[in-house]
Amino acid sequence: MCGIVGYIGHREAYPIVIKGLQRLEYRGYDSAGVMIYDGEDVKVCKTKGKVVDLEAKAAIEMKTGGTIGIGHTRWATHGVPNDVNSHPHVSNSGDLVIIHNGIIENYAPLKEELIKRGYVFHSDTDTEVLVNLIEEIQKNENQKLGKAVQIALNQVVGAYAIAVFDKKNPTEIVAARLGSPLAIGIGEGEYFIASDASPFIEYTSNAVYLEDGEMANIRLHKKIKVRKIQDDSLVDPYIQELQMNLEQIEKGGYDHFMLKEIYEQPSVIKDTYRGRLHANEGIIQMSGIEDNLEKFLNADRIIIVACGTSWHAGLVAEYIFEEFARIPVEVEYASEFRYRNPIINSRDVVIAISQSGETADTMAAIKLAKENGAFVFGVCNVVGSSISRESHAGAYTHAGPEIGVASTKAFTTQITVLTMIALRLAKAKGTMSLSDFHMYLQELELIPEKVKEALETNDRAKEIAATFKDAPNCLYLGRGYNFPVALEGALKLKEISYIHAEGYPAAEMKHGPIALIDEHMPVVVIAPKQGHYDKIVSNIQEIKSRSGRIIAIVTKGDTQVRDLADYVIEIPETSDALSPLITTIPLQLLSYHIAVLRECNVDQPRNLAKSVTVE
Ligand code: GLU
Repeated sequence: MCGIVGYIGHREAYPIVIKGLQRLEYRGYDSAGVMIYDGEDVKVCKTKGKVVDLEAKAAIEMKTGGTIGIGHTRWATHGVPNDVNSHPHVSNSGDLVIIHNGIIENYAPLKEELIKRGYVFHSDTDTEVLVNLIEEIQKNENQKLGKAVQIALNQVVGAYAIAVFDKKNPTEIVAARLGSPLAIGIGEGEYFIASDASPFIEYTSNAVYLEDGEMANIRLHKKIKVRKIQDDSLVDPYIQELQMNLEQIEKGGYDHFMLKEIYEQPSVIKDTYRGRLHANEGIIQMSGIEDNLEKFLNADRIIIVACGTSWHAGLVAEYIFEEFARIPVEVEYASEFRYRNPIINSRDVVIAISQSGETADTMAAIKLAKENGAFVFGVCNVVGSSISRESHAGAYTHAGPEIGVASTKAFTTQITVLTMIALRLAKAKGTMSLSDFHMYLQELELIPEKVKEALETNDRAKEIAATFKDAPNCLYLGRGYNFPVALEGALKLKEISYIHAEGYPAAEMKHGPIALIDEHMPVVVIAPKQGHYDKIVSNIQEIKSRSGRIIAIVTKGDTQVRDLADYVIEIPETSDALSPLITTIPLQLLSYHIAVLRECNVDQPRNLAKSVTVE
């Protein structure tokens, strides 16, 4: 995920592009770059770091005058954040310049082919492959930029929002989208291109949002032409009048980043498995695992180290790894692990989970593991982060920047990555029947749709939140795969609403917390049909007998729990092992709405930081 900006018109482009990038920085902030066409040549400046760093560099290195420009703020997916990998990328001839948000999945074979044809690559990005592919088509088939872009896009697999400029025809920018957002602002004799409308809101309120699979020729003094990439058919662009203010646009119309991120889960889970999961062919492929398969297969055990929400994802993974791949797993708080002289040896695989990849305790834990000869595998969201660099291998979650301090999409994408690893190992070890393997692959592919359906419980969650917003305490119960979800649900509530909450294994409740239950105690019970349903029904009976107020998360159509619970939230059915990806959604929504009703600062709760880089 990244932010892209473009301008073509009569004003000076540079300040518009820079200001636009600043507004889009919430979308990605590991590097930034800009291209300005000054009437004769293209000037490119790019740097690792933030937009302010780009400004400082451009002030020294670049003449910024010119009325056409494009810019990018990056969230690396292919290649670490550094100056060279930053966008814009320029084609081998120096004529074409591109900015790209997304992932070109089949970049590797395309790159190989282009190298055979004499192309040289300077960066590790998928994007540089695309710009050179366009150039090759332009040259070979003698095509104009728009046509060459169209032919190239029909050859790529993946997701993109792009803007491409050709200095041989400097009155046009070609833009296209599939899976990543792209808005075109329409002014008087000028056009703006951006990931959302925030970069151009003060210049025009007229915008065209490209649909997936559409591209646009944006030419000076001409009407924009929009067509379908696949069949070249022309589309009548629908010009919308923007009603939103700047802040609303950055948050995509949501009131808080947390809510936006909760709603992003269907698409980011897809991004996580994109190019890795091929359900119809029965393939799971992750380079970090393929290259180190023996290490995993020969492991005596897997030790998962993490903190906070990532630790909960680790607990879910423990159940999944042991069930699927029959490898013993231990899950450790990184902060405890590093200080307790743990026994680690060279046949251990240590998986470190961290959204930011900067968590200080997790970093220290993996250093310790490495010193003791263990193989370290990182599961991080931020590409090029310290933990991803320090690990021997790893897999990124590709969830895009998470701004809300309370982690949501990082959790579900971590579980998605870890589930894919467990399935890959199960296949290699033969610990799962082929039919189950295929079933899980198909099920996993359906998860984004089911998460979408689970998000429809938002109104119900809001209603329930209104009833419980003043509760001083809350108990969360779950069993099996949903015990860690209970912990995560309780953590979410604590973090953003400051209500004391505890997560517990439902059966363990009678060894202590049951003493807390009375008519004032809300108890959230995760009770999907799959798993230990009958047992959890008994636990619900126990709570009911003590007058506890039950909020149950149940599978659609459930009647048994409905009769016992005070409130139910229905979610779609999936297999037991994958259910945390669904059951967690209403819990996120519930804590979000309780926090809003309590007028808490949802995105920046007190005392917390997004990335815990201190011990
Ligand atoms: N895949 C591209 C890269 O890693 C674009 C990533 C983005 O959307 O920022 O450079």
